[in-house]
Amino acid sequence: MAATEQPLRRARTRRAAEAAGPVPAAPRSTVPADPNAVIQLRGVSKIYDHATGAGLKQATFSITPGEFVFLVGQSGSGKSTLMRLLLKELEPSAGSIIVAGRDLGELTRKKVPYYRRNVGVVFQDFKLLPNRTVYDNVAYALQVTGHSRKDIRAKVPDVLRLTGLSTRLHNYPDQLSGGEQQRVSVARAFVNHPPLLLADEPTGNLDPETSIGIMQLLYRINRAGTTVVVATHDSAMVDRMRRRVIELNDGLVVRDEQAGAYTARDENTAEFGALMRGEPAPAPKRMADLGPDELFDDAFRDDGRTTR
Ligand code: ADP
Repeated sequence: MAATEQPLRRARTRRAAEAAGPVPAAPRSTVPADPNAVIQLRGVSKIYDHATGAGLKQATFSITPGEFVFLVGQSGSGKSTLMRLLLKELEPSAGSIIVAGRDLGELTRKKVPYYRRNVGVVFQDFKLLPNRTVYDNVAYALQVTGHSRKDIRAKVPDVLRLTGLSTRLHNYPDQLSGGEQQRVSVARAFVNHPPLLLADEPTGNLDPETSIGIMQLLYRINRAGTTVVVATHDSAMVDRMRRRVIELNDGLVVRDEQAGAYTARDENTAEFGALMRGEPAPAPKRMADLGPDELFDDAFRDDGRTTR
């Protein structure tokens, strides 16, 4: 292409955009705001294009602080679309999304990185930096958010202890098992102690026993007060965990089942692990018989193994 054609084409595109007018705001929803929600979707739709159709259709629901929610549905049902909308990687075609009282539609581009600091994210494929150690992968999440070196030196070992990675500080990702790599990515997502953690198929690349360890870790983070939303197609695990389930089918919310009354009690992490394996819950111990680790419900030992 001739060098002069470039600016010409840009000017033409700009003129066409101006003629089309400003990008219309997504149509508003009439669903009232829920002041108690950490996440509220009000009539949210996402249409990619008319050939592929909708990724999400008129989704309306609220998630309250401290909930553990599974987002389930077959491949192509809209789980990733919803996750990406919550991260403001995508804009809805209709409706509004409110996270911690903020309407994401009103966040300016400049404010998006600040918003994302409050949302921890865990992916199926870990997304670790291959040429950095475990310690540096986690420290990096704090460096980019402007934490002081003193703060980083205090926080990183703490979160690596919580995730059972204290003996792996100086290893590189390719020296770790899949489960350990996913622990690093959970540590990285949690080191800022975000109020909200989103996990997109976090156990998709892991074997069943390793998956249980990761789910125990997410459960423990949830018990510490973080709202956790996990997208998965592992229905057996979801059934065993007995938490709230939002099911999508072809972009529609077809089920929103609150955890039954029988799950309202808080299991400790060992009881939770038994639930996940389909085993009977361990008999409760008397306070006087508990060791110091158990008193603090320390599910993860420093060697990275989960307690049973
Ligand atoms: P899931 O995560 O449940 O597999 P997705 O949210 O990825 O589902 O996809 C939901 C629907 O949206 C599918 O029909 C998919 O083809 C479509 N879709 C997803 N991403 C895009 C995209 N970038 N462009 C066009 N269509 C898309």
